[in-house]
Amino acid sequence: MTHATARSVLVTGGNRGIGLAIARRFAAAGDRVAVTYRGTEPPASEGFLAVRCDVRDGQQVDQAFKEAEEAHGPVTVLVANAGATQDRLLVRMTEEDFTSVIDTNLTGAFRVARRAVRGMLTAGHGRIVLLSSTAALHGAPGQTNYAAAKAGLIGFARSLTQELGPRDITCNVVAPGLTRTDMSQSLTEDQRRKLLATTPAGRLGHPDEVADAVAFLAGAGYVRGAVIPVDGGAGLGH
Ligand code: NDP
Repeated sequence: MTHATARSVLVTGGNRGIGLAIARRFAAAGDRVAVTYRGTEPPASEGFLAVRCDVRDGQQVDQAFKEAEEAHGPVTVLVANAGATQDRLLVRMTEEDFTSVIDTNLTGAFRVARRAVRGMLTAGHGRIVLLSSTAALHGAPGQTNYAAAKAGLIGFARSLTQELGPRDITCNVVAPGLTRTDMSQSLTEDQRRKLLATTPAGRLGHPDEVADAVAFLAGAGYVRGAVIPVDGGAGLGH
């Protein structure tokens, strides 16, 4: 679906995986899309504005927004997609394993959302979508750090929803199950088999299927503080 007016969209980690599928979806709808990357830029043929940004660094976040705003105007759709895992059983997990995963997945989303809300308040309009995970809802062995960070996003979105009140600025969460990207490649065959055994769809998700939910939320005005699972039915709606 194309929109009457092109929106200024920023997708963190839009250079690959789920973020790239999301960025493509907005570009196909005619929006002006900026994506952040750290090492490898998205292919130039995609036509996105690529801005370098590590979400663990507030100055880089600010700079990325400045570049996106200069090129496309105030960011009115933010997708906080950048995420990373560092799996380890709790007894072996170092404090650094824990805090670095929180820093990227939770504090990183805080940094970009806070920066975006400023412009959205001025524009009087905005859509924020945070990429969580079914690990937030059901937990996962070896992921106390990641599940805590991703669960934190839900409380974050619901608190921000209440802060924003009647303004036309929404904040929602998408919680993917196992999706076919580099991130899911790190699972062992045994872990993958066990996960799929409890997934009614019987297969991994495709990044485009996560993009479907994000695109819906970017268009919806009366869906607020929601968590949408995209998990092949693994949580039966939860
Ligand atoms: P990938 O590992 O394929 O890609 C991760 C993306 O996040 C990359 O673009 C990466 O950028 C970026 N990123 C990681 N750390 C940082 C950082 N510190 N600053 C900026 N960007 C960073 O992951 P997916 O595409 O699979 O995951 C996308 C989102 O979906 C994540 O939030 C993930 O937690 C979530 N998710 C994924 C699931 C899956 O099964 N794939 C399941 C549930 C949730 P770079 O290229 O520079 O490293």
